[in-house]
Amino acid sequence: MRDTTRVRQAAPSPAAGLRSLIAHALFTLRDMTRWTLPPDKIPSAWFNVAPHLTTPLQPPLHPGTREPVGPDDLAPLFSSTLIEQEMSAAPWIDIPGEVLDILKLWRPTPLVRATRLEKELGTPARIYFKDESISPSGSHKTNTAVPQAFYNAKEGIKRLSTETGAGQWGTALSFASAQFDLELKVYMVRASYGQKPYRRIAIETWGGEVVPSPVDEPDHPGSLGSAISDAVRDCMGREDTHYALGSVLNHVLLHQTVIGLEAKEQLALAGEKLPDVVIAPCGGGSNLGGIAFPFVPDSDVRLLAVEPLSCPTLTQGTYEYDFGDVAGLTPLMPMYTLGADFVPPSIHSGGLRYHGDSPLISSLVKDGRMEAIAYPQGKVFEAAVQFARTEGKIPAPECGHGIRAAIDEALAAKETGEEKVILFNYCGHGFLDLSAYDDYNNGRLMEEQG
Ligand SMILES: *Cc1c(COP(=O)(O)O)cnc(C)c1O
Repeated sequence: MRDTTRVRQAAPSPAAGLRSLIAHALFTLRDMTRWTLPPDKIPSAWFNVAPHLTTPLQPPLHPGTREPVGPDDLAPLFSSTLIEQEMSAAPWIDIPGEVLDILKLWRPTPLVRATRLEKELGTPARIYFKDESISPSGSHKTNTAVPQAFYNAKEGIKRLSTETGAGQWGTALSFASAQFDLELKVYMVRASYGQKPYRRIAIETWGGEVVPSPVDEPDHPGSLGSAISDAVRDCMGREDTHYALGSVLNHVLLHQTVIGLEAKEQLALAGEKLPDVVIAPCGGGSNLGGIAFPFVPDSDVRLLAVEPLSCPTLTQGTYEYDFGDVAGLTPLMPMYTLGADFVPPSIHSGGLRYHGDSPLISSLVKDGRMEAIAYPQGKVFEAAVQFARTEGKIPAPECGHGIRAAIDEALAAKETGEEKVILFNYCGHGFLDLSAYDDYNNGRLMEEQG
């Protein structure tokens, strides 16, 4: 038998034990840069922001009659549970166990302190980011894809139709559909279908079918608005099919609130009270709503939406009822919009090229609870590259918008000497967007007018 006593160290004296414990605690606090939560700390309910709005949401209107839309109008498109969630005023909504079991493949996601970026900026601010890029499809979109696939499968639906721009939503829903044996048809904006094959290949690998959109105009480069029209038409023609949307709608933003709920717990573990500002890019508003909504009741926390200057919905759009798609098939929603026929220039942040915005986000901006800022893409890539060179991760160009704003907040804190706490959403990685970095690195980036 081996004598294990030889490797055992002498017991420390009580005083030395206490000293080492304190030293260890100090070391841990000073040097920790990453906070994880155990799997059983994944939130068990979603946070509904609707009851916290200053002005209650206006209802969506029927595209034909312009009367408020009821559950029956939406039934051909969505599962009844998702429609209930869309209209719910309940403060919390339970997450089904079957959904939690799949979310646990990558959740809870880490909260990371960007100390190397802070150092490079010379800022007294503490910058934290929530890393949603570790999901199977590489972005936050999987958080809603899974419950949407689940509720549809549970109600006997066999097939989903959807649209995708650059492909992030299509990949997330393809992964989720595979979990519940649903067929999936993805209408992909034709320009991306041709230029960005990797997400198409990922969708097909998880079992989804992809076609370029618009289907009836083979020479048209397409847009998110026209791909939505294609996907809605597909679903309306078939009993066994429902439609799924990856952003904008209330139930989508609801599903994303796991991000902010986890971040709140992790900030407490990091010894922070509340952040001074919460930042995220905004296309249709889902990753922003996901991280920001749980902080809406904390009135001292600033909330900041970041958008591209070439598609400046919140900063330059008008607040009115508008369609979600080009063909006018969707209900009219009260939101900031650039007009349903607005075709944004083809910047690299495909996920931010949408004419409208979430009604919930629009309402918070209109009431002054949330701020918005727009950046040209050159400034965004500059920030994304600075982040990559300090923190190591290469962000999706959409994600770079939030990083730009976080860096600018940190630089402002340097001027005033304020020990500001900044939280931003690292909503997706950029490994399938490297051609955009190639354009930036070689001076081929289109610079838009603002
Ligand atoms: C889709 C997407 C966005 C934009 O959509 P939101 O609904 O506004 O979050 C932003 N970032 C990434 C990485 C995306 O995939």
